[in-house]
Amino acid sequence: MRRLLGVSGAAAVTLLSPRALAGTRITVKHVRLARHNGVTQVIFDLSGPVEHSLFALSKPERVVIDFKNAQVAGGMRVKPSAPVHGLRYARRGLNDLRVVLDLDKGSRPSSRLLKPQGGDGYRLVVDLAALSAATPAPVMTAAAAQSTTRLRDVVVAIDPGHGGVDPGAVGKRGTYEKNVVLAIARRLEALIKKTPGMQPYLIRRGDQYVSLRERLRKARAKKADLFISIHADASPYRYPKGSTVYVLSERGASSEAARLLAQRQNEVDRVAGVNLSTKDNLVASVLVDLAQTATRESSFKLGEHLTANINRVIRLHSRSVERAAFVVLKSPDIPSALVETAFISNPSEERLLRTPVFQQRMAVALHAGVADYFNRYAPSGTLLAARHRAVRALS
Ligand SMILES: [Zn+2]
Repeated sequence: MRRLLGVSGAAAVTLLSPRALAGTRITVKHVRLARHNGVTQVIFDLSGPVEHSLFALSKPERVVIDFKNAQVAGGMRVKPSAPVHGLRYARRGLNDLRVVLDLDKGSRPSSRLLKPQGGDGYRLVVDLAALSAATPAPVMTAAAAQSTTRLRDVVVAIDPGHGGVDPGAVGKRGTYEKNVVLAIARRLEALIKKTPGMQPYLIRRGDQYVSLRERLRKARAKKADLFISIHADASPYRYPKGSTVYVLSERGASSEAARLLAQRQNEVDRVAGVNLSTKDNLVASVLVDLAQTATRESSFKLGEHLTANINRVIRLHSRSVERAAFVVLKSPDIPSALVETAFISNPSEERLLRTPVFQQRMAVALHAGVADYFNRYAPSGTLLAARHRAVRALS
């Protein structure tokens, strides 16, 4: 996006530090394997009760356990014992921990959090029940599996800025914004495609022009749950650098709501799921207003999660989530954010934007921001929401 176009009249909003919101971090002190009634158990010794989620993946077979707000003390190692032949772990986002158990064969995992008892502290016990040939591999914990068939994936609309006759900003070395943002977007698409419970939707796949309104229309047609627009920043000066995340400003929201309302009296099914056709205009405008307030709050939360993860990849140009009246952020019912990944007008960041390494790291950060957001705010009726409900029931 080019600032010279005057689209970014932004007001800063202070971020709360994720650390401050997170409370006490739980430590995974030790892990061991045990057998109980013919079932392999993986037992994690914990410093306290932990929020977690659990799911199985196949090809290769593995079980993934995500611990919220947790860390490992020292190292974590297990002696391989069938069906577990390996254990890996990594930090996830700013505060979370992901543990992956590599398995010889498919298993149906379930978990229990045990309170301190007889000299043992808090423990998370993961049971790896063997799958019989007749049992299809489940991808979720038992509590969440009840209504698996009706649960849908969340749809993440990825919007690479510009395209076709509109190159976006152009760097000193001739780098086009439209090309580098498409490269990042495609990497993000691949990451989301690999994530259970998520489905990507790329607004443009190639070098074509798509109007801003058309981008919104496409996202709505796909019933997107989230909208992320990817751009590169530009300034008339060479030194500004870093990344900025934007969400819609309140003023931009309300005028657009009025326009949408007027234009779409007969096509209102997507406005907060409320059927406005039976309501008069005043009631309708109040309902749109309420839906938009909720969407603005969700967008800001999304912006916070994106900012926190981007901060690990590149210096932030603005540490806070910024607000501006970008047209592509104006869906009244889809939480939306626009990411200026780096300054293409800054020679060293232009170089960075061209490298596959940076493109991938940025995509990973955006993916982590989206995952963190859905960890807390997955829409009901989705696989992700059911999984998190199951996690809460277990702990
Ligand atoms: Zn742009």
